[in-house]
Amino acid sequence: MSAPLQTEIFRKFARRFPTDDVCLEHLLHVRFDNPPRCPKCHRRSKLHRLSKEPAFVCQWCGNHIHPMAGTAFARTRVSLQIWYFLMFLICTRTKPLNARVIQREIGVTYKTAWRMKREIARHFVDKD
Ligand SMILES: [Zn+2]
Repeated sequence: MSAPLQTEIFRKFARRFPTDDVCLEHLLHVRFDNPPRCPKCHRRSKLHRLSKEPAFVCQWCGNHIHPMAGTAFARTRVSLQIWYFLMFLICTRTKPLNARVIQREIGVTYKTAWRMKREIARHFVDKD
């Protein structure tokens, strides 16, 4: 893990979202409800986590559910936790973050920071 992530604000964030898996589970509940409802058989399911990919299996029909599919998160190599951290920064800062600040705070390249900022602006600007 790179130096910028050792900041106080990251530690505060990481108490709520310590790993990618915790973020993935949170995203699952945001998108498919809690307890999750399978989009294929429409039953509430105890989903089992697949070990080899960021997906879950429906206990009733065996459907694979990918919480990141169709989101900006799926199209980058940036970890889900880093995406979550960026959203956390956006929500907790009073001033807007520019790409330079994002680059420094989360330890990605300027280009990646710029693309992440654009994706978030595109998808999340109107949402809480
Ligand atoms: Zn199902």
